This record gives sequence, structure tokens and C-alpha cells, in this order.
Amino acid sequence: MAARLAQKQKSSIPPSLWQCSHCERVYSNDAMRKLPAVKAVEWQYGYVPVCKCGKRFYLDKWHLHDSARTYFGGVLQNVELNTVHLELNHHFSAGPHIWYETMLFPSRTYSDFRQRHSTRAEAVVEHQRILAILRRELLGVDLL
Ligand SMILES: [Zn+2]
Repeated sequence: MAARLAQKQKSSIPPSLWQCSHCERVYSNDAMRKLPAVKAVEWQYGYVPVCKCGKRFYLDKWHLHDSARTYFGGVLQNVELNTVHLELNHHFSAGPHIWYETMLFPSRTYSDFRQRHSTRAEAVVEHQRILAILRRELLGVDLL
């Protein structure tokens, strides 16, 4: 009975999947462990896997970064907008893979704004849409 329950629990957890930011090749945990690795930082311990295309995981992540000076949370401040490729699928149950995340980092207030996306195309569209909103608010401030 316990073995049956353990087997059922094990089978309900999908395996972790990793995706290269550049060639979008997907690896299982076992396949990731078999990739060659290079030092993450020359003067520290730790290694990162290298994709078959030659890009290093963690270090060569695809990302978008923009900033705006705008009102956020009622405070005029600098806001950083980051969209990153997560490399690890963040949808841990059945459904579409989640490979991208967009977050806002205001300089003077807190934000829990977070959007997750399945594809790079979706991530780019949302990043540009949010940036346009932030910059329109800046324009409104300038006009006052
Ligand atoms: Zn690759």
C-alpha cells in the first residue's frame, strides 16, 4: 500500500525540464547532468552546464531590461523592468511550459508584479506593452 502510494505520488510530479536560452533545446535533469560544464566564475567554485550549441546555462541567459522614471505606487521613482528566460520550466504540473518571467523592480517601493510566459514571443510582447504603459505615465508626469 505504501509503495503504491509512493508510486502514485511520484508519477504525479512531472520531471524537471531545462531549456537553453539560445537554441531552445530542452533537456531532462539526467541529460543536463551529462552535459560538459565550465567554471561559473573564474575565482569561485561551481560549474555550469554548456548546451550542445555552446551557450552556458545561467550565465548566457536571454533577457530584456529597460528602465523608466515613472509614478509607481504613488511615488515618482526609477523602475526597472526585467524579462528573463527562466531556463527551468516553472509550470510544475500539467499544462503549457513556463519559460519566461517579467518583473518590475521599483527603486523606492515594493512590487510583487510578476508575469510568466510560455514563449519568447509572448514575453517580448508583454515586456513592450508594460514598458509602453510605464513610459506613457512618464509622459503624463512631464505634461503636468
Ligand atoms: Zn543551446
